[in-house]
Amino acid sequence: MARGKIRPRVPMPMQDPLVRRGNFHEVALGYTREQAMAEASRCLQCTKPTCQSGCPVEVDCKGFIAHLAQGDVEGAFAVIRHTNSLPAVCGRVCPQEKQCERACKLAPTGEPIAIGRLERFVADAYYTSDACASAIAAASHCRMPQRDVRVACVGSGPSSLTAAGLLAALGAQVTVFEGLHEIGGVLVYGIPEFRLPKRIVATEVEHLRRLGVEFRTNWVVGQTIGLRALLERGYQAVFVGTGAGLPQFPGIPGESLLGVYSANEYLTRVNLMRAYEFPRADTPLPQGRRVTVIGGGNVAMDAARTALRLGALEVTIVYRRTQAEMPCRQEELEHAVEEGVRVRELVAPVAFEGDGKGWLAGLRVEHMVLGEPDDSGRRRPIPTGTTEVLPTDLCIIGIGTGPNPVLLRATPELARNRWGYIVTDPETGETSIPMVFAGGDIVTGAATVVLAMGAGRRAAQEIARRLGLV
Ligand SMILES: Cc1cc2nc3c(=O)[nH]c(=O)nc-3n(C[C@H](O)[C@H](O)[C@H](O)COP(=O)(O)OP(=O)(O)OC[C@H]3O[C@@H](n4cnc5c(N)ncnc54)[C@H](O)[C@@H]3O)c2cc1C
Repeated sequence: MARGKIRPRVPMPMQDPLVRRGNFHEVALGYTREQAMAEASRCLQCTKPTCQSGCPVEVDCKGFIAHLAQGDVEGAFAVIRHTNSLPAVCGRVCPQEKQCERACKLAPTGEPIAIGRLERFVADAYYTSDACASAIAAASHCRMPQRDVRVACVGSGPSSLTAAGLLAALGAQVTVFEGLHEIGGVLVYGIPEFRLPKRIVATEVEHLRRLGVEFRTNWVVGQTIGLRALLERGYQAVFVGTGAGLPQFPGIPGESLLGVYSANEYLTRVNLMRAYEFPRADTPLPQGRRVTVIGGGNVAMDAARTALRLGALEVTIVYRRTQAEMPCRQEELEHAVEEGVRVRELVAPVAFEGDGKGWLAGLRVEHMVLGEPDDSGRRRPIPTGTTEVLPTDLCIIGIGTGPNPVLLRATPELARNRWGYIVTDPETGETSIPMVFAGGDIVTGAATVVLAMGAGRRAAQEIARRLGLV
């Protein structure tokens, strides 16, 4: 931790791109203990650290890194876990370059502390240690459940899991109602195995189960049971974390051609329904030799890299701005390109073209140039009128999503904004229905895991206060 010459970051061991493009194993292999301690020892242990405020759940980065630099994994885990209930997930998927690592004092050198990788190491090492199980049982903050305090969480994405974990640790009886047959929301149905292995999510969920959280799958709130009915059945508070999983389409001709998929459907078929095992699994896999993916976010990167792993000969991402404006994690773009995904910048889709028999044969795109910055701060793409057709037999659309509609349709009294997302009090997360709180993508629109977690945490703190748990 001594000041002096700044040592370079310890590189993350990775699977070779040519090997990994043919398998679903995790791309980043994780630090060894020695590598993690070496990276942790680069931390300056600043007197006024800025990294913590760069994190939406305010992980005490300086604190956990100090423990890790001494080889104290348990101590490091305790510090992280104090504010972050899904550290193994966040260590893998958070856009650290825009958060904690951007705020690191070493960021201007181009070599900020690899905070995300260290967080991942700590969580992985801790979960496989003997200390883990006994520590959960003996956790000092974990009171006996107070049977008269019951809270329901709707949806099981990171926002609900965070709210559930915090409330259970404070002694509430928490039940999570999930519409799908697996727990984890986008973490299991959206983000592929090669970035976030399902066993990691399962471990974090198990951690919550041991805290006393009850999980009910195949419960669609708004259909299987109403939101009001939950309150009437004795849940004193409800947290709604139903996410933004409704795919958006570009609204151009040819969208109903066979071979045009939303990224959500494509990824869900592969991740959750194991379509790659068809016919041993019930869900067939949309096959494509020449695959085009529309979009520039994490969803588009995941779809493109999945298609590559499933045997596509050629995978091209089309994006209407340039790579510099892409909203995806920088690392995912780099990994996709290393694996052989091609990126066509400054082209926007204008029509899907068929083969005359109902199947997709090509995507017509229009060339763009960049104009002045728009509301998002990024330079606006301007059409040039020149088009070309990209031969394509599978097109995957990853241009954004809308609010999951079932609960909202069944609960018209829940106030929503003009985009259809739930309106909440920014401080407390409470909705227009007293003691019903909401957070995550269903409030903000599609965002990030850690922002969803931050919202779950804030709402849980307020619920705990109102129910007398703190
Ligand atoms: C493919 C993909 C890749 C991504 N990659 C990243 C990344 O690398 N880093 C990052 O930070 N973010 C990433 N994101 C975004 C991130 O996953 C989301 O912002 C986050 O998961 C939102 O969490 P949430 O709790 O709001 O809801 P979600 O994770 O969307 O979970 C909502 C859950 O609610 C359930 N549900 C919906 N309606 C009901 C109902 N009526 N009753 C019961 N259950 C219901 C759904 O089935 C779902 O399981 C990615 C998103 C996608 C789609």
